[in-house]
Amino acid sequence: MTPDTKGHLIGGEFVTGGPTADNISPSDVSDVIGVYASGDEETARAALDAAHDALPAWSFGAVQQRFDILDAVGSRIAQRADELGRLLAREEGKPLAEAKGEVFRASQLFTFFAGEAIRNSGELLESTRPGLMVEMTHEPVGVVAAITPWNFPIAIPAWKIAPALAYGNTVVVKPSEVAPGCTWEIAAMLTEAGLPPGVLNLVMGTGSSVGAAILDSGRVDAVTFTGSVNTGRRIAAQAVEHGARVQCEMGGKNPMVVLGDADLATAVECVVNGSFFSTGQRCTASSRVIVTDDVHDAFVDALTARLGKLRVGHALAEDTVIGPVISADQLDKDLRFLTEARSEGAEVIGGERVHRDTEGFYLSPAVVLDPRQELTISRDEVFGPVTSVVRANDYDEALALANDTEFGLSAGICTSSLSAAAHFKRHARAGMVMVNAPTAGVDYHVSFGGRRGSSYGPREQGRAAREFYTQHKTAYVNPG
Ligand code: NAD
Repeated sequence: MTPDTKGHLIGGEFVTGGPTADNISPSDVSDVIGVYASGDEETARAALDAAHDALPAWSFGAVQQRFDILDAVGSRIAQRADELGRLLAREEGKPLAEAKGEVFRASQLFTFFAGEAIRNSGELLESTRPGLMVEMTHEPVGVVAAITPWNFPIAIPAWKIAPALAYGNTVVVKPSEVAPGCTWEIAAMLTEAGLPPGVLNLVMGTGSSVGAAILDSGRVDAVTFTGSVNTGRRIAAQAVEHGARVQCEMGGKNPMVVLGDADLATAVECVVNGSFFSTGQRCTASSRVIVTDDVHDAFVDALTARLGKLRVGHALAEDTVIGPVISADQLDKDLRFLTEARSEGAEVIGGERVHRDTEGFYLSPAVVLDPRQELTISRDEVFGPVTSVVRANDYDEALALANDTEFGLSAGICTSSLSAAAHFKRHARAGMVMVNAPTAGVDYHVSFGGRRGSSYGPREQGRAAREFYTQHKTAYVNPG
């Protein structure tokens, strides 16, 4: 039986009727999770019309209403964690336990931003001119376009939609065409919780059709994007051309430095988690492990001993530690990186195509030993279960290698030296620094983002989100 089509949400109605696309599990290509509408320019136009129509009432509406709706959705997501976790694991491929963890994160984000909606304080100052008072407040920006990737299909839409709504904006969200299911569920839950029609509009389909149409329209006041560097740069240029504010979170080539004084077991766990969990498909994944000479060989032995124990398999299988990569294209890309690294003289351990009972995109975890710094594998984001281990003479060289990248999202160090940790925190050229903790894995109540090629524009999440989703107003008042 063909599942019913899940439609776009436009002006409070789920709309079907146009082209569709199957949502396929990367663990099992015969598993069709659902059929989802796939929109075009007309879909984008209708969603933008609805978002503009809904803006005045929502942006001037009571913050209690925003709190109630966001809080209800936060609770509802947590209640549905098992079911949503299974959906996420099926459509994205991360193991069920990680998928459920991501679902709980989405719940926390809605609950956190429910609170932020009623804490949107301003400032009242005396003017420098006698008799005047000055008020500074934060008002909604307007219609926000949110464009999201496939690798965190519920957490990333949540960390954009929840603050945008909390601060009184209306939204057109376009999830990745590869994994639209979780965003569809968020849209359905917001509707059930009483969100007025048009305040959130969901359009699905490819970036080149419906995504580009949203941005080409010039009818959005802000664009929040997470995805690859190439797309992000194009979107940022387009937004600037139309005078829209823009925020782009993009790729990474995150270093993890391991010093000789580190606890070896902790360092190995940080690298296994940071490099291979979520199949290495995290923008914050550790893809370069830089190890000082005094511990390099012992570290490589301990890490490679762990590789065979990281069971690769179906996202819903209980013993799976590493799920499939997202698609056939991504699998080819990962294998090409490894073939090229081998042909350029690097030794590769693991990184083989793996077959399971179901036909999926399975790749065993790979460690690339001592690739030269100029090689593609050392410079470009792979976005798979692949990490390099690089030898450094000492801390200074390790820091220099860590910073030798055009990215700057997350950087980690494993050490028991307080002074090395303090120096690294200050000198790592990254938006986030981790000490004796994996490069991936962050909190929702603090700001998230990177530097250089990884990020453009204001930070996401935590209290920092207000900078992007509101605009300042300064009012001068003469009480008379
Ligand atoms: P992608 O750039 O291919 O797609 C991201 C989104 O942009 C999708 O919804 C896509 O349909 C849309 N899109 C593509 N072209 C478009 C266009 N011309 N106009 C409008 N929209 C367009 O990225 P992806 O493959 O989905 O995600 C993987 C990438 O995301 C990796 O590079 C990863 O590092 C990055 N990422 C970054 C962060 C972060 O916070 N820094 C978090 C997660 C993922």
